[in-house]
Amino acid sequence: MTARRDWLKHTAALGAGIAIGGPALAQGQALPAAPLKPQPQPQLPAPRAWQNWSGIQRCQPKAWLLPTDEAALQQALRDHKSGPLRCVGAGHSFSPLVPTEGTLVSLDQLSGIVAIDPGNSAQGPSVRVRAGTRIGMLARALNAQGLALFNQPDIDVQTLAGALATGTHGTGQTLPALHAEVLALRLVSSEGELLELSAQQNPDLFDAARVSLGTLGVISEYTLKVRPRYQLRRRVWLERTEALLEQAPELAAKHRHFELYVLPFTGYSAAITHTEVAGGAGDISHPASADEDVLRDLQRLRDWLGRWPELRRWTAAKLIAQTPAESAQDWSWKLLSSSRPTRFNESEYHLPRAAGIACLKDIIKTLEQRNEVFFPIEFRFVRADTAWLSPFYMRDSCSVACHALQGEAHDYLLKDLGPVYRRHGGRPHWGKLHDLGRAELQTLYPKLADFEAQRRQLDPQGRLLNPHVKAMLGLKNG
Ligand SMILES: Cc1cc2nc3c(=O)[nH]c(=O)nc-3n(C[C@H](O)[C@H](O)[C@H](O)COP(=O)(O)OP(=O)(O)OC[C@H]3O[C@@H](n4cnc5c(N)ncnc54)[C@H](O)[C@@H]3O)c2cc1C
Repeated sequence: MTARRDWLKHTAALGAGIAIGGPALAQGQALPAAPLKPQPQPQLPAPRAWQNWSGIQRCQPKAWLLPTDEAALQQALRDHKSGPLRCVGAGHSFSPLVPTEGTLVSLDQLSGIVAIDPGNSAQGPSVRVRAGTRIGMLARALNAQGLALFNQPDIDVQTLAGALATGTHGTGQTLPALHAEVLALRLVSSEGELLELSAQQNPDLFDAARVSLGTLGVISEYTLKVRPRYQLRRRVWLERTEALLEQAPELAAKHRHFELYVLPFTGYSAAITHTEVAGGAGDISHPASADEDVLRDLQRLRDWLGRWPELRRWTAAKLIAQTPAESAQDWSWKLLSSSRPTRFNESEYHLPRAAGIACLKDIIKTLEQRNEVFFPIEFRFVRADTAWLSPFYMRDSCSVACHALQGEAHDYLLKDLGPVYRRHGGRPHWGKLHDLGRAELQTLYPKLADFEAQRRQLDPQGRLLNPHVKAMLGLKNG
């Protein structure tokens, strides 16, 4: 809290809505007269350090930019002459996309809805929204206007720009990732030039910029397709994993949203369906989530019985057999995203739809060779789209995600699971842990070279890169 207050003090000192890691003069203040004797330089505290949600990525940037409007953002980028520059959203990526020793740009102050277009029968409603807006804030504001997002990820605290830049998705066989709903966007290049992009206006750059990893410029605004708000009915039940995997394709086809969580070392999985229903305020029934309790129970079973997998399985089965199914009904935005107080690290790969279940089975087998594992394995469905770096590019997919508790070993997410995912043709989630370089990525992303050509044109000196992104694009570090 103290550090945050110090940081706020710093940023408040700057006139044009821009924060840097140095002193500033208030408007109209005269320059102080030169001192007669050399004075010791005041010790300025370093600009605020940064770390991601799980704490495994950190950096100490030289400066922060916090523009308050698009014009200030343009000016800041024009004025920024030296050193690398990276964008940061809410810091909820696990991979080192954000860290830089240069300048971090945050759009925390560029947030909120600009305009809503109610649309017509041929073209539905859309919303213009500033890129620093958190997904949850957008969903809440849309709901108040009778509108909603088509889908949401598991949490909603990410910024829109951060989520879209990494191909963030929810679940639903017929529902694409969030960036597929982008109709237009505004991007400020590293030189401060403002570009308006859509399928009609510079379509190639539009296809590159919908999932950009923050390498093309700073996106300041999106126009998103939205829809009339809707209620969902949720059902959650536990079932033997083998039986549930048999039914999974049918459940995914039948329900707007279907996902499952395999509970390792139990033989059981949790199934979750959400079905759209007509309903109003009087139909809402939304008991508190039991996710954290389940997680604690799984951890306790691991802590107590981890060394005896058969006993652990037997005990889990006894407990699970008594667990009744649960249901809830609420507005979509309240049911699709949850809060996740227990912190973890994660890897996730997106498989061709037909390979999803086979890959999941191999992942379960691999993970259950490690007695310390207890986090549920998440399995979701995502529809194909056309953004060049979308992990769902031209491919209906299933996603498999594995987690390790914050502070516990997570190297196996890369070492043991990476080869399994790749054997099944998996593409990594850009925001989650993976160790793929250019050679592997270009076999998975047919448009990687086209993306790189667009990036080079916009940022020939590579000012918007960091070592992780350079490694993925096959560019020399240094
Ligand atoms: C608990 C938890 C649950 C999650 N659940 C899901 C899930 O259900 N589905 C899913 O797909 N992912 C999920 N994720 C991953 C998460 O959605 C992504 O990593 C997302 O990118 C995080 O958004 P952010 O705002 O924190 O962005 P950051 O992590 O801060 O940044 C991500 C990228 O966006 C770029 N960026 C940020 N702002 C801009 C801008 N204005 N212009 C250009 N580039 C920009 C950054 O440079 C960086 O490359 C989850 C993560 C956590 C921690």
